Amino acid sequence: MTYDLLIVGGGIWGAGALHAAAREGVRCALLLEADIGLAQESSAKSGGIVTDLLWHPEDQTFVQRSRELFTEALRRSGDVSIVQPYGMLTLAEGEHIDALHRRTEDLKAREVPYELFDQAEVERRYPALDRLNPDTVALWLPGDWHVNATAFAQQVQEDARSEGLEVRTACRAESIRVEDGKVLVTACGEVFAARRVLVTAGTWTRRLVRTAGVDIPLRPYLVQASSLELRRRHGLPIVWHLSTDVYMVPDGEEDFLAGDGTRTREFDPDNFPRMGDEDFKATIAERLMQLSSLGDVAGLRSNWAGLCGGTPDRRPLVGEVAPGLFVATGDQGLGVMRGPAIGEFALRIALGLAEAPHLRPDRFPPTDFEIRAGFTLD
Ligand SMILES: Cc1cc2nc3c(=O)[nH]c(=O)nc-3n(C[C@H](O)[C@H](O)[C@H](O)COP(=O)(O)OP(=O)(O)OC[C@H]3O[C@@H](n4cnc5c(N)ncnc54)[C@H](O)[C@@H]3O)c2cc1C
Repeated sequence: MTYDLLIVGGGIWGAGALHAAAREGVRCALLLEADIGLAQESSAKSGGIVTDLLWHPEDQTFVQRSRELFTEALRRSGDVSIVQPYGMLTLAEGEHIDALHRRTEDLKAREVPYELFDQAEVERRYPALDRLNPDTVALWLPGDWHVNATAFAQQVQEDARSEGLEVRTACRAESIRVEDGKVLVTACGEVFAARRVLVTAGTWTRRLVRTAGVDIPLRPYLVQASSLELRRRHGLPIVWHLSTDVYMVPDGEEDFLAGDGTRTREFDPDNFPRMGDEDFKATIAERLMQLSSLGDVAGLRSNWAGLCGGTPDRRPLVGEVAPGLFVATGDQGLGVMRGPAIGEFALRIALGLAEAPHLRPDRFPPTDFEIRAGFTLD
C-alpha cells in the first residue's frame, strides 16, 4: 500500500503532525521506535514549561497555537495533568535585570498580563524563596503553564486511531530512499512507500535523513533535570532563576522538578548519559540552596538527561530536503511548548498547504556551528 503521507518519529512534534493529518483526512501512518506509544524520548523528559517569555515573535505564535491544541486535548480527555496553570516567576539579579526589563516592553506590546516586583514582595508571596539577593527583580507571568507532553500525545494517538490512522509502535525506521516519485522507508522488516514522508525523529533526524543522501545543520546537545522530594508544601509556582540558570517546576504540592544542566557540546543520540552527568547531580542541590532553604532538605529522587537539537540560528528546520522528503526538527530546548504547533505546520507544509522558506533546512550548510541554548532571554 502507498500512503499519502508517512510520519517517522513520534515525540510531541510528530504528535502535532499526526493530529493535523487526522484533521486533514490524509491517509497516513506514523512509525515509531518506542513500543509503548508517542512522546517517550525528550518529550517525556522535559520540564514541560510553556511560557510567553520567548524572544522570537514566530515562536510566540507557535506557543499560542500549541496552547490551543493542549487545551483541546485537555477538553477531550479530561486529563487535568495536560495543562497545569501554575504561572512562572523569573528572577533576575545584576546584569540580568536590564534584559528582564527589555522583555517586559515586548510583553506589554503583546498585552500579555505580567507583574514586576522586588525581593521583599517575592518573599511575602513565596516564603520558600528565602535566600534571594536584595537587588532581585521578579517578573510574574500568571498565564504560564506546565504541560504533560506524554499525556497530550497519548490523547492525540487515541484520536488518530479512532479516525482510522495507523500508529506503528516498535517500528524503528532504518533507512530512507527517494525514487520514482515515491519515498521508501525501511522499518521493522518492511518497506513502507509514501508520496511524502515527514521525519519528526527529534535529534535522530539528521542520522536518518543521511541514509537518503541528505544532510541538515542539526547538532544534538544535552539537557538534564532532577526530581526532588520535599514532603512538605512548598507553595511555589514555576521559578526560573537567571543567575544560577536553575528552574523549578512543581511536581504536585510537595515535590518539584529542577533543571537545567545544559551542556552545549555535541552528543550522539544513540550514546549519551541518559541518567545525567556527575557534575549536574553534584551541583543541582547547591544551586537551589542559593534561592531557598528548601534546597537544604530536598532529597534527590532521580536525575535524567535528554537531547535537544541545536541549529545555527536557534530556529527550527522545517521543510523539504529531497523530493517528497520533509523534516521538522531543531527544537533548541523549547520543543514542548512549540511542538504541537510546529508539527501541525510541518504537516501543512508537506501537504503543500503552507510555506516557510525562512525555516528551510538548507538555509545553512550542514557544517559545524556553535551550539547555543534556546531558553534564554535574548
Ligand atoms: C531535561 C529536559 C527539559 C526540557 N524542558 C523543556 C521545557 O520545560 N519546555 C519545553 O518546551 N521544552 C523542554 N525541553 C525540550 C523538549 O523536551 C524537546 O524540545 C521536545 O521534546 C522535542 O520533541 P521532538 O518530538 O522533536 O523529539 P523527541 O521527543 O525526542 O521525539 C523523537 C521521537 O522519534 C523517535 N525516533 C527516533 N528515531 C527513530 C527512528 N529511526 N524510527 C522511528 N522513530 C524514531 C524517538 O523514539 C522519539 O519518540 C526539555 C528537554 C529536556 C531533555
